Parts: sequence; C-alpha cells; structure tokens
Amino acid sequence: MEHHLAASAERADYLVELSNVVRDISIGPRGPRSLRRLGLVLRALMELTGDPDVSVYLVADTSLLGGHREFGDQAEVRRLRGWVADGLVEEVDDADERVLELTRMTATPVITGDQYVDHRVEHPWIQGNTWQFLRPEPRPDGSVALVAMDMGVRSAAEISRKMELSALKKQGLLGPSRTPLTDVIMRAWRCPELRCSLYDIRRGGRILLPRMRRGVPTCELHGSPLEDDGPRLGTTQLKAVIDGACVARYTLDEGSEAHVGRLPGPAGIALHSLLAPPVAQQVSRRHVAVSARNGTVLIRDISTYGTRMRHVGKRGGFGTWEKLPPQTDRPFRPGDEVELAPGVVLTRSGRRFPAELADAWRTEAAQTPVSPSAAAPTRRA
Ligand SMILES: [Zn+2]
Repeated sequence: MEHHLAASAERADYLVELSNVVRDISIGPRGPRSLRRLGLVLRALMELTGDPDVSVYLVADTSLLGGHREFGDQAEVRRLRGWVADGLVEEVDDADERVLELTRMTATPVITGDQYVDHRVEHPWIQGNTWQFLRPEPRPDGSVALVAMDMGVRSAAEISRKMELSALKKQGLLGPSRTPLTDVIMRAWRCPELRCSLYDIRRGGRILLPRMRRGVPTCELHGSPLEDDGPRLGTTQLKAVIDGACVARYTLDEGSEAHVGRLPGPAGIALHSLLAPPVAQQVSRRHVAVSARNGTVLIRDISTYGTRMRHVGKRGGFGTWEKLPPQTDRPFRPGDEVELAPGVVLTRSGRRFPAELADAWRTEAAQTPVSPSAAAPTRRA
C-alpha cells in the first residue's frame, strides 16, 4: 500500500479522509476499524483511473490512533504509526476541516463518506458539488466501487445567502478577495523558526500546504504565522493512457514546453516503446507540443494526421471529440483528453496549476453562496 501514499497533498491524485474510510463498516472485514478498507479503496482507485501508480494523501483525526484498541489487528496500528512517523499520514485534531481546506486549495477529489453538512457555511463550494467527493460502496463480490456523491444544496445556506451577500456588499468585499486562498497557494511560504523546513520548497521532500488560522497561513508545527517566500512555480503532470490504462507519467515545469510523439527527440516525451507497431505508425514523430505558461497548460497539434481532444465538463462528463486546429495553442485542463491515435490518449492529472485554481475559485465564488467568514479573512499587510 505504501507505494500509493504521497508525502504531500499537492503530489497526490486523491485525498483520503482516512478515519472515515477505516471506520466504514459497510466495506471490507468486520469490526469497527480496519486498515484493509484502505486497501480496498486503493484497488478501486486503480480500477477507476486505470493507473497502477495512482497516489493518495491521507488525513486522519488524532482519535483514529487514539482509539487503537478498536482495531482488530494490532499490526495495523503499528503500520499506521509508522506512516505517521514517515509523514505519510497527516494527523490533525479535526480531519474534516483539514480535508476541506486541502480540497479547496488543490481541487483534488476526496474519498470519504462524509457529507460535511456542518461545514457548509464555512465551505459553501460544497453546495451542489457532484464530482469531487467519492464514497466507497461495497460490491457483492466484496470489492469496493467509488461513487461520486451528489452533495446537494442545503436550504439553510440558501436562506443565509442573501443576508451574507448584502453584508459583503456593505463591506466592499465583493471582489477578488472573496477567494483569499488564491494568494496562499500561489506563494511559497517559510516558517520563521529557522530549523523548520515543513514549507520550504527548495529542500524538496515533504512540503505541507499552510494551515489557515483566522485567514493567516500558519505553521502546523510551531503555530506561528508563515512568511511570504515569493511566488511559487508550478509543475504539472501528464499521463499517457493507452487502451484505457495509464502507462507512463511525466512532469512539466512552469515555463517549459515538451513535444510528445513517437520519437520527438531528446527534450521530448517518446511513446514508441509503449505502442504496438500498427498504432505507432499513426503517431507522428512529433505529434503535439505541451507547454506550461503563466500557470496554465496549453496543447498544440504539430502532427501529420491530426489530433482530437475532448474537454471534461463541470459535472465530470466528457464533451464530444473535436479536431484540434493545427499549429494553434489550446487550453489543456485537468481531465481533458487528447487523442493522438485510436487508443493513445494524453491526459493531465487532477491537480491544477495555481493560476487555474484562482480561475476556478473565481467561477465558484460567482455561483455559490459566500459566508462572511470565508470572504473576510484577517489579512496580513
Ligand atoms: Zn514551523
């Protein structure tokens, strides 16, 4: 299982509310708590994504290990403690709050059975969400399926919406400041404690996203406000999917361009070794150019036979395949599929670039009720 555990939320394909999964008695073995339920969820994820290396970031309540006697198998408790020590589980007092904070920052889908009803005033973007929360469901054969939950719209929030909006108007807060976390994820952060490297992107390894306390990015460990360490450059991840299975992943740094094709040359992504000869013939030596600029990703057809693309819609479904106009940059968003030849697809992982997150939040803010607490943070000068 360790193979699938990411040491940072930003590198994971999915977030998992671990306490919720471990305690989900509708799946897996009997007993109040079992780590084998996580194994079932990982298997379901591999099936769902076609990606044998799909990665998850685990968040757990401290009470999960606090109640270790409820685990039927104490070896699982030792294993879980090891994961916490290795930074593979983020242990917090309130996992709900942390999961929602991370989800909002990274737009990564979450595996949980929780409807988060009591968090909706603070996190109005949950309202009406039909794609981001996946619930494990048992299948008759003992395996698990992941089903997207329709989070619905809770009426209490609807009632308060008008009140809140008018309060915001009064304070002049109906602007970009409705999405304060944009500023947080687009910057790098540093803890004032000299020896603390939890947020230091230059040291590599584990990087936490800041903990927001009263609107201020704060060190999880030291509780002190973090210092702004300048703008942060993103990396995106591309996946090559052949006949429905993810066979390779590549990273693309901000400011770079890569050619993808059969044999695109030294700086490119070569697919020839992954393709059967008849398929390889239909892929150009240099087929598409993918570039990451100003926090967004673009794709350009540079092939002989053309390229098709389909966009993923707001509700998770696909639009129709369309031919890419040759030699023209087009936005390539997470989930979009680019087809180089039948069965040969290039896609992006679910994580978004900071600039794309900012856009998503702006769109979201225009559509969902906003609570005063989310819109009026205490901001540092
Ligand atoms: Zn610190």
